[in-house]
Amino acid sequence: MLCPAPVAAPSSLWSARRAFLLAAGAGAVAPAIAQVDVGSSSTLRKLIPAETLERSAAQQYQQMMEQARSQRALAPDNHPQLQRLRAIAQRLIPFTAPWNDRVGQWRWEVNLIGSKQINAFCMPGGKIAFYTGILDQLKLTDDEAAMIMGHEMAHALREHARERLAKTQATNIGLRLGSQLLGLGDLGNAAASLGGQLLTLQFSRSDESDADLVGLELAARGGYDPEASVSLWKKMGNATGNKQGGLAFLSTHPSGPARIEQLQLNVPKVQKLYEAARKRG
Ligand SMILES: [Zn+2]
Repeated sequence: MLCPAPVAAPSSLWSARRAFLLAAGAGAVAPAIAQVDVGSSSTLRKLIPAETLERSAAQQYQQMMEQARSQRALAPDNHPQLQRLRAIAQRLIPFTAPWNDRVGQWRWEVNLIGSKQINAFCMPGGKIAFYTGILDQLKLTDDEAAMIMGHEMAHALREHARERLAKTQATNIGLRLGSQLLGLGDLGNAAASLGGQLLTLQFSRSDESDADLVGLELAARGGYDPEASVSLWKKMGNATGNKQGGLAFLSTHPSGPARIEQLQLNVPKVQKLYEAARKRG
């Protein structure tokens, strides 16, 4: 028999803390409307200005897409699979704003890259790419593709990359220089190298779990079946044995019983959001 995880603090205290954090201008705090239980992002991420990171990410993304185009691997606008992905994104994007107060300035982009790799990502600022390998090899339904889209959007909304990079910067440069980091000193150089680092970034298990839950809620609000989160990760688990597709995504997104169990526990929390979205049509 499975029971929901106990709530760490009484909800009134939790709301008070959340209200305080919102008042303090924290950008990646769980919104009051959230059905899934996730906390606020680490404040350490503020060592790296969001604008700087989003600008670096946009440059890196553009370079990647140009490279794909030069290799004839970038799907044209009329590609049916790309249109399908963009339609899914359009249904999720309206529900992203409560999760990050910079979303109003983001210019979301969705592209599809022809590659056998099982991979997908969303860079800071809303730059999304799927590889054809993840759609083809896992034979994703729309609901399952929406779960991946939601998961990747959640990494960006919750600023996981910003937090990882801030921690790396802090470790590299040393916390004693922290005050200089906040000034203009080395920031230019640091920013220049951020884009490249985005591609090799490893998220923590807790980042992954956070992205699963926030993504699940975004997809449910967009009208995608929450049960698909479970079938998706079962498919991922089965694909782990298939080395042909490249294991980049699978090595950073281990699909184990714990991950699937956490999603199963959270499906009922967002079920009503899904049903309401279906009724709206
Ligand atoms: Zn992830």
